[in-house]
Amino acid sequence: MHWGVDLGGTKIEGVILTAIDPLTTACRIRIPTEAQRGYAHIIGRIAKLTTQMEEESGINRPNQIGFGTPGTVDPPTGLMKNCNTTSFNGQPLPKDLAAALNTDVIVANDANCFALAEARLGAGKGFPTVFGIILGTGVGGGIVIDGKVLTGAQGIAGEWGHNELEPDGQPCYCGKVGCVETVLSGPFLERYYANHANHPRPLKDIAHRARHEEDFAARQTIDRLCYFFGKAAAQIVNTLDPHVIVIGGGVGNIDQLYSDGREHMKRYVFNNRLDTLLARPTLGDSAGVFGAALLTQV
Ligand SMILES: [Zn+2]
Repeated sequence: MHWGVDLGGTKIEGVILTAIDPLTTACRIRIPTEAQRGYAHIIGRIAKLTTQMEEESGINRPNQIGFGTPGTVDPPTGLMKNCNTTSFNGQPLPKDLAAALNTDVIVANDANCFALAEARLGAGKGFPTVFGIILGTGVGGGIVIDGKVLTGAQGIAGEWGHNELEPDGQPCYCGKVGCVETVLSGPFLERYYANHANHPRPLKDIAHRARHEEDFAARQTIDRLCYFFGKAAAQIVNTLDPHVIVIGGGVGNIDQLYSDGREHMKRYVFNNRLDTLLARPTLGDSAGVFGAALLTQV
């Protein structure tokens, strides 16, 4: 029995996995986070969700619950950092959750949960080393080796989104300039297109127009995405050499990444061929909450 909670900026979702193979769930509940009401309120919301999960499933809470959160627990201090739900930053979230829920908790970054779920149950199943990327509003990454998340000495293993990719590029919320996130994330791609086309469009349309219409700005946006994706993904391959890279998030739906992007990767990888698989996720928006639950499986 594995209980997982995915704590997002707009919703909190809980799941109970009663079996992994085949995957069986006892209940799955979503409630709004109400993040604007602050940290203490969010802890109260999570306590409420856990009680609801007990009531709906008729199962008492276990002695350990897994949590996926934006941001990371800083290992030496136990305090949260790098959260875009900023009220979490500097807070002892694992300690406060354990006290509020009266159970042990394991807290991991949401990109790590995505990578864990896809590695154990999804597109990375059966591969020893899996790198999971979320290319969406932000860019996150997680490393799973032999079914276990690699956290790292500082809790930032896999945080590839804040490697420098374009030295003269755009400022990033993290305080640096030209991070992978400022080149490959959805909002930055849409901004790049809008500046070149003098007309804003959603990313999905831009990708479609790059393929099917005479839209020079759309082609430029997607060609540039593929070039920089290849360059950035080659750094992952040269460092970790994963068997598969699973690409989640809205940008991960762009077909050209798997063809043109992969060709660019080849040029930058320290090898005369590229065996690394690029895979689309198979768990959809369940990956975060399933990954949180799988944290409790040692
Ligand atoms: Zn950054």
